[in-house]
Amino acid sequence: MIELLKDLIKIQSDSKEGANEALLFCAEWLKEKGEAVTVHDNNGYKMLTSAKGKGAETIVWNGHVDVVPGHEEQFNPIVEQDRLYGRGAADMKAGVAAMMQAFVDLDRSKLARSVQLHIVTDEETGGRNTSKWLVEQGYTGDFVICGEPTGLKVGLQSKGVLQLDMTFKGKPAHGSRPWEGINAIESAMKFHMAVADLPFQKESTEYYEKPSVNLPIIKAGDRYNVVPDICEMSYDIRYMPGQKKEEIIRQLVDLAKTLDIEMDCKKEETAPALTTTKENPYIQNLQNVILTTTGQKPILFGQHGAADTQYYAAVQGGEGAIEFGPSGDDWHGNAEYVLISSVHAFKDILVALAHSK
Ligand SMILES: [Zn+2]
Repeated sequence: MIELLKDLIKIQSDSKEGANEALLFCAEWLKEKGEAVTVHDNNGYKMLTSAKGKGAETIVWNGHVDVVPGHEEQFNPIVEQDRLYGRGAADMKAGVAAMMQAFVDLDRSKLARSVQLHIVTDEETGGRNTSKWLVEQGYTGDFVICGEPTGLKVGLQSKGVLQLDMTFKGKPAHGSRPWEGINAIESAMKFHMAVADLPFQKESTEYYEKPSVNLPIIKAGDRYNVVPDICEMSYDIRYMPGQKKEEIIRQLVDLAKTLDIEMDCKKEETAPALTTTKENPYIQNLQNVILTTTGQKPILFGQHGAADTQYYAAVQGGEGAIEFGPSGDDWHGNAEYVLISSVHAFKDILVALAHSK
C-alpha cells in the first residue's frame, strides 16, 4: 500500500491531464487485483467507480487524486521514519491508496452492505466535474467517507458557504467639499465595523466557536478630488450548521437600513452546511470501530471549509457525508507529509467498518 502511495505521488497530478493519468493508474491497479472498475468521463475529467457486496445500505469511499501545484522535488516521495513526504501525500493520495487497498482487502462473505469506491480528479478545483457529476448520476450512498487528511478524527460537519456581493451607494461631490456628498467608501467601512456585532456572529455550536466572516474584495474610488459614490464589497461567510443563510442576509440588510446606508446585496452560488450529528448511527458505529481498531478515543470535530462531501450530503438533507482520513501536515505547503502508521490505521478502520454488523 505504501508503494502504491509512492507511485501515486510520482504522477504529477496538478493538471487535468496529470490527474487523469493518476486516475487511469488507479484503475489499472484495481483491475490487476481482479476488481471490476468503470471509468467515467465528464468534460474530459476522468473518474472511476467500483462496487462490492450487496445489501440494503451503501457506504461510499471517495478520494481525489488531483493535487495543488508543487515543486518538482515534491513529486519524488521521501520517507523519513514514519513520515512520507511529497505533494499529495496527505491531501489526499494517502487516503486514496488506503481506500484502494481496503477495497481489495474486503471479504465478500463478511459484507452485509454494498461498498462503492469513487476516485475523482477535480476536488482541488471545486469537484463539480467529478464528485458532483457522480452524485447526479445516482452514485451515492447512505454514508459517505471522503478520505481527506483529518488526523483520524471524524469531520462530521462543515460550515455552509454564503458569498455576497454588496454595492454601497453614496452621492458624488467635489473632494474639497465632502460634506456636500455621501462617501460610499466611508459607508462601507461603517457597515463593516458593525457587522461584527450582528447576532449571527455571536452564536456558537458544539463544534464551532463562531461562523467565519471574511472581507476578501473591496473596489471603490479612482481619484483624489472626488467623493466616491460607489463602493463594492464582497463577503465570504461560512455559517454554522443550524444557522440559516436567509436570516444572515436579513440581518445584513437590516443593518444597512438601521445605519441609513443605501446598499444592494447579491447572493452568489453557495454551498450548504453539513449537519451530521453524533447521534447518526453510522457515526456511532465509526466511533466504536476507531476505538477497537486503534485503541484511541475517537474525536469528532467540525470542518471550516467545504469538500466533495457537500455534493453527497446535498441529496441527503445535509447529512451522512463526512471527512475522515490519515494524519499529516502542511498540505498545499512545501513540506507536505503523511504519517505512514496512520495510513495503515485508516485502511484497517475502513475494512472493519465495512465488515461491521
Ligand atoms: Zn483534499
